This record gives sequence, structure tokens and C-alpha cells, in this order.
Amino acid sequence: MISANDPKLKSWVAVPGESDFPIQNLPFGIFKTKYLTAVAGVAIGDFVLDLVYLHEHGFLDDLNLPIGVFNQKYLNDFFSLGRKKVGEVRGRISELLRHDHSFLRDNKQAREMSLIPMTETQLLLPVSIPNYTDFYSSEEHATNVGSMFRDPKNALLPNWKHLPVGYHGRASSIVISGTPIRRPKGQIKSPDDELPSFCPTRKLDFELEMAFITCSNTALGKGIPVKEAEDHIIGFVLFNDWSARDIQQWEYVPLGPFLSKNFGSTISAWVVTLDAMESFRSEGPEQIPHVLPYLAVEGNKNFDVQLEVLIQADKSEPTTVCRTNFKYMYWSPAQQLAHHTVNGCNIQVGDLYASGTISGPSPGSYGSMLELTWNGQRPLHMPDGTERKFLEDGDTVIMRGHAANGKVRIGFGECRGKLLPAS
Ligand code: CA
Repeated sequence: MISANDPKLKSWVAVPGESDFPIQNLPFGIFKTKYLTAVAGVAIGDFVLDLVYLHEHGFLDDLNLPIGVFNQKYLNDFFSLGRKKVGEVRGRISELLRHDHSFLRDNKQAREMSLIPMTETQLLLPVSIPNYTDFYSSEEHATNVGSMFRDPKNALLPNWKHLPVGYHGRASSIVISGTPIRRPKGQIKSPDDELPSFCPTRKLDFELEMAFITCSNTALGKGIPVKEAEDHIIGFVLFNDWSARDIQQWEYVPLGPFLSKNFGSTISAWVVTLDAMESFRSEGPEQIPHVLPYLAVEGNKNFDVQLEVLIQADKSEPTTVCRTNFKYMYWSPAQQLAHHTVNGCNIQVGDLYASGTISGPSPGSYGSMLELTWNGQRPLHMPDGTERKFLEDGDTVIMRGHAANGKVRIGFGECRGKLLPAS
């Protein structure tokens, strides 16, 4: 059988050269149209392939899929079938879309019914998210933040290189790309103020992250060994962890961020499978001091995904403010999940685990305004002549990501959100 990742594969569906969605990607999502309520689909080029249609018309027969598994608001039930079964479905779709495979290609009615131009669809949250965790796994980001707020000489706290630091975030306010975000109000107290005041945040920021989604329900009390961790990861999305820095600075002691983060987080619509990312594995940074045995991994557990952030001022052109790469992360997804569950914490299907802000080594690769402008000291210059210390009302933040190896390029689509004024 030909691998769905084979760079030589071509589809009979026309795929533009720089498309995020060639036949080697085939990410899963949930969409609706004028005629369809929320159903599962796969992205191919500029089209969405309707999985309900394919399932109901016999194109996925002999895969033993539960009836109605794609005719749902979320992908949780489908993902709960596990990586192997989801991989089989991806393999079958790859076959159906291959240029030399006639079954769907030459069936005019099925082709026209199942392939929907993406412009005629509305993409929805792909999974119902029971739990959301945010890590803090970029050494460069943690060092930058530690230097700014504490001490450049001891920027990393003593635990940082021994465990992937994280906290439990808020799942209910995670929204799909394209959903506007309202500037939050909260308690703010600058070091010079005697008392806190209540007002809209003046330091609204983005955080460029990626997030993985899990596909199993484990039993409470049973951890996931690091060697098995990737068996529980179905795929990845882009993630914007919007942050109100002034609210954060006042509230975060001693338990970490709270209202500075939970007013909204944005994810991209297509779940790019870990299977599709196999071709883009990358070595992680060397971990010194050596990690404890339960976190020790062999082989390449990082992923080479090129990332960028653009800011688009109202009625202006978008401009790139950051370019970085997911491969810089000090702690890999496998280590994050092993650590998360080593105490017996159970995981659920659809859980979202965000990487933490992804910053690279150079100033242009920092994954937040806080770092890019060094807490407002070095404003960014926008194409319309204005400056940005933090985000302004009307700004749209656009995150994009793709993996490329010279033979194949697969992408994540967009993670986009426009900032509305405080209510
Ligand atoms: Ca974060």
C-alpha cells in the first residue's frame, strides 16, 4: 500500500502550488454550508470533502466505522476510534483523491456532491474541548519573560529544565478562527500605583502557540509512559493564547495567570494529523541537565513547522511581525503529555494541550508583542505609519504555519481573530 505521505502522490483535485492542503495533508475539520448542518470534512486544495456523503454512499465501506460518526457537531467520536483507525480513513481518502484512482474521480454525481468549494463553507470548532492545558515550553520565551519581569541573570526558574511547566487553562472560551475577541477589562495596578483600578487592558497581546489534541480517555490513576504518549495525540492546530499583560502582572502571584488569559483563545479549524507530520520530525534541543527517566525520549519528537504572525490594522494591509519555528521547543509534546499524567491525571478525547509561546533565538522570531516590543520599549512600525506597543482595537492577528521539506509542503490554514473595543 502506498503511504498517504508519499511526496509523489498527486490528486485529480486541482491543488494550487502553495496550498496548505495537498493530498499529503488531508486534515480533518467540521464545517457547515447553506444546505448542510455541522458535519465532518477533509481539506483538499480549495475544497472540503464531505465525509458524511462519502460514508453514506459506500466510499468508506469495509472500514467498519460507526453509523453517523461523521454526522456530528464535533470530531470527538471519530477521533476516539484512535490513531490507527483515523489513519485508515485518511489512507482511504488519499486513495479516493489520487489522480490515478477512478472510483470517485469518474463518478460525476458523487464528485459534485462531496466536493464543496471552501469559500462556500463555514468552518467550526473541530472538537468539543473538555480540558485545556497551557505549557511554557520555549526556552527563549521563558528566558525573555524572566529577564523582563525578574532578573536577566536568573531568567529561568530552577524547575524549568527539569519539568515542562504548565497550568490548567479555560476550555469554555476557546473559539474558532475568525471569531472576534473583545478587549477585556480587569484589575490593573502598575508598580507606581497605590491601589488597583478597574479598566480595559492597555496591554493586549497575542501568544503564538501550537496545540495538540488527544484521542483517548484514560483511567484516573494511570499515567501515560513517554514512549506511548504519541499514540494518544491525534493531531495539531495553531493556537493564539490572547493575553492581557497588565492584568496578568497584577494577578499572577502566586498561582499563575487567570483572567488575563481566560477571556478567549483562538484555534485554527483543521486538525493536521500527527501521521501527516511524520515527514517533518525534527530533533529537539539537547536537554542538559539530563531529564528524569520518565521524561527521557529517544528519536525525533519535535516537529519542523514554520510559523508566522501578521497584524492587520483596520483598513490596512497585513504585515508580518514574527517568523519562528515549532522545532525550537525545549519540551516535546510527548514529554508534555507524559509529565501531565505521571501523577495519574486522566486525559479525555478532545483535550487541548498548548505548547506555550513559541519564540526563536532572534528578536524577529519572538512569539508575543511583549517580547517583540520588549514590554512596549521598542514599538513595532506598521505599514500605515502607526506604531504598536501592544494590540490596538480593530487589529486582526493572523497566525499561519506550514511544514516543508523540499518535496512536500503541508499547512495549517489560519488562526485569525479581530480585536473589538472593550464593551
Ligand atoms: Ca500561553
